[in-house]
Amino acid sequence: MTAGTPAAPAPERSLSIGPDGWLAEGRGVLRRPSPNHDQRPDDEDPCLLVIHNISLPPGVFTGEAIIDFFQNRLDIASHPWFEHIRDLRVSAHFLIRRDGTIVQFVPTVLRAWHAGVSSFEGRERCNDFSIGIELEGTDTLAYTDAQYERLDALAAAIRARHPIRAVRGHEHIAPGRKTDPGEAFDWERFERGERSHETTHHRHHPGGR
Ligand SMILES: [Zn+2]
Repeated sequence: MTAGTPAAPAPERSLSIGPDGWLAEGRGVLRRPSPNHDQRPDDEDPCLLVIHNISLPPGVFTGEAIIDFFQNRLDIASHPWFEHIRDLRVSAHFLIRRDGTIVQFVPTVLRAWHAGVSSFEGRERCNDFSIGIELEGTDTLAYTDAQYERLDALAAAIRARHPIRAVRGHEHIAPGRKTDPGEAFDWERFERGERSHETTHHRHHPGGR
């Protein structure tokens, strides 16, 4: 390939996060800002990726309820289960839907409210120094191929922007309190994807229970 020749087009695998901490909007990437965020203490550069799952109501993968929830405009009366989350004010940086669509709620440079009471390597309040990715799903139902592919691309984009040195599940940083992403999440498959992007970043070992 000569200088100036465009790279082979691979829009679905190529994501990038700008200086402002937002993914470039485009095919399969939506921006839905959530008010549930604040500054990271000392504007710390995040070093931990936290994988979650969510579906609202649980097990239902249609509609906009997750987006509405993270934007504090969920219609609580629209489903009886929503009473459980009536007063919660939470968010994540990203949601990957079953079809692979990525929705971003909070720029990566700011603190989203996804981890709650949590601890990583002895340090508490993981929200301060982590990026949260929600997979639309449940602990027990297999995630889709589209979700693994997009998670792979998203994790690579995050690593290109922030000094990520570990990836954990919510269940690992809040054991006994949280169970997501659960047994349905294939850590080995995720790690294979990570290795395919590996250049100079450190190896990491999720799981570790
Ligand atoms: Zn979670």
